[in-house]
Amino acid sequence: MLKPSILVGILLFALCLPVAGLAQSGSSPAKQADALPTDKGDLVITFLGHGTLMFQWDGKVVHVDPWTSQGEYSALPKADLILVTHEHRDHLDAAAIKAVSKPGTIIGSSNKASATLADAVVLKNGDTKELAGILVDAVPAYNIEHMRSPGNPFHPKGQGNGYVLHFGKTRVYVAGDTEVVPEMAALKGVDVAFLPVNLPYTMTPFMLVDAARMIQPKILYPYHTGDTDMDKLAALLKALPGVETRIRPMK
Ligand code: ZN
Ligand code: ZN
Repeated sequence: MLKPSILVGILLFALCLPVAGLAQSGSSPAKQADALPTDKGDLVITFLGHGTLMFQWDGKVVHVDPWTSQGEYSALPKADLILVTHEHRDHLDAAAIKAVSKPGTIIGSSNKASATLADAVVLKNGDTKELAGILVDAVPAYNIEHMRSPGNPFHPKGQGNGYVLHFGKTRVYVAGDTEVVPEMAALKGVDVAFLPVNLPYTMTPFMLVDAARMIQPKILYPYHTGDTDMDKLAALLKALPGVETRIRPMK
């Protein structure tokens, strides 16, 4: 299960850690987590499933797109920051948000998703805000090819966000529901990238490879993987020099 980093000159490495809260929650099995060193201690990433992630860093807890179908959220650490990428029900779940909220929790959200979130800080594509002491860039997430009906993309341009979170000097890009889009070429210095690969809503495996080539993350986690054949995807990604792909349970 452990996969030591093979990258020379990169200070990131992986540990698989059980997450105590979920391990003890009865019906939920323990969730897998990786610890990546940053200039301010470890960043622990818990893979909750689908498009939902938990980050723990520098004494702070960040939940991205919490969704009750992926775990017992009341057993998880409460959030200092919750980020919502867009309004689809697998990304915006009021029950999960409530379960991980505490007094003072800050919610950062796309504009459309914020309509049902009291006191959310709205981030438009291109915005950068410091939320709970963490710098967050909101970047575009949208479809170019994949349409719900002709002219009607699953994710229209300008509505949804991906986020680049700055954990000290370590930049983590959580792409949200997107295809490979030209704006990805402007993302510089991404250390860790989460890219979606579920059809028909986001990327094909080939699109994901193109996206990874543009972004050049040191570590790539395919996420929101749906029914994608992960062995085939991993084989495709082997051809990408300098990118370490880590497959985690993110269906
Ligand atoms: Zn969506
Ligand atoms: Zn989705």
